[in-house]
Amino acid sequence: MDIFCKIINNEIPAYKLYEDDEILMFLDINPNSNGHTLIVPKKHYVDLEDIDPELFKKMIIKAKEVKKICEEVLHCDGITIVQNSGCVEEVKHFHIHVIPKYINKQELKDPKEIYEILKRA
Ligand code: 5GP
Repeated sequence: MDIFCKIINNEIPAYKLYEDDEILMFLDINPNSNGHTLIVPKKHYVDLEDIDPELFKKMIIKAKEVKKICEEVLHCDGITIVQNSGCVEEVKHFHIHVIPKYINKQELKDPKEIYEILKRA
């Protein structure tokens, strides 16, 4: 079982920001920037080859919500969305990265600290 299935099944912890029947969102354990969020379907799809397009669409809508929250709460200036498939995908469970971008250099905080800030919002 891949690591994201284990997070979905509550076998290992994560800083979860949102969950419904189809999608889970949590902070990346090794963030590129403050607020780096992973959006993951609960059903196991490996990568872009097999993801349900409707679910992908729902994930993109959620990515817009992450952008809005990160702008409002973390004061980011933009975001980069990344989807790795094939040889560049480290965790073989479809996911998209939402990576906030900041004009001014930010000190990289522990995901726990970012989680506390986002949950207060
Ligand atoms: P990929 O290269 O597959 O697109 O990226 C996988 C991402 O998952 C990486 O950014 C990595 O830091 C993150 N990651 C790997 N294992 C864990 C974990 O156990 N918990 C969390 N929250 N993120 C993880």
